[in-house]
Amino acid sequence: MNAKVLIIEDEPAIRELIAVNIRHAGYTPILAVDAASARRQIDAALPDLILLDWMLPDQSGVELTRRLRAEARTRDLPIILLTARAEESDKLQGFDSGADDYMTKPFSPRELLARVRALLRRSAPEASQDPVEIGGLRLEPDTFRVTAGEQTLKLGPTEFRLLHYLMRYPDRVLSRGKLLDGVWGDHVFIEERTVDVHIRRLRLALQPSGHERLIETVRGGGYRFLPA
Ligand code: CA
Repeated sequence: MNAKVLIIEDEPAIRELIAVNIRHAGYTPILAVDAASARRQIDAALPDLILLDWMLPDQSGVELTRRLRAEARTRDLPIILLTARAEESDKLQGFDSGADDYMTKPFSPRELLARVRALLRRSAPEASQDPVEIGGLRLEPDTFRVTAGEQTLKLGPTEFRLLHYLMRYPDRVLSRGKLLDGVWGDHVFIEERTVDVHIRRLRLALQPSGHERLIETVRGGGYRFLPA
């Protein structure tokens, strides 16, 4: 499950340099040349992290960050602002805008990747490769394995991502819209009942070990993964 990194940068050379490094680190780069095209990308599918140039032709990165923070769907998107300015006041303004981190050009690709990794770990553990275990059910992202004791459970790729997301938020009621955003990365073009279809398949897949009981349907709310 590769994290999707949206790179919003109007300078082709810098955009390409970042994209190459992002891809090399195992993430999926998505490119936008200005704020308008970035908005279209975000509407189509939520990225896991945004690298955002401060000076864009149509809207400043700070302004775009403020707008993203004002909407429920994009409020929690991790954002790293990239800028050529180094003044302290600008740095503060960057944080005031709601960006999570800040880098001054020119930066080394290595440092950029370190910040990307740190921010993804903090904000999107579902994109991390660490195994999760709840109530005897264990999910290993790097090997795509789900086990219960000695038993290996067979899950389709969507059910695997869905389970990973549910296990990331145990004991929380997750709405169908939230699950679509987190698992499908898009709640604009997929119907909410798609979630129900995959929850049903996931429960079937977990039945052999009895772990389907951990997925609770919350009437009028969505679904909750019980802590054990
Ligand atoms: Ca620029």
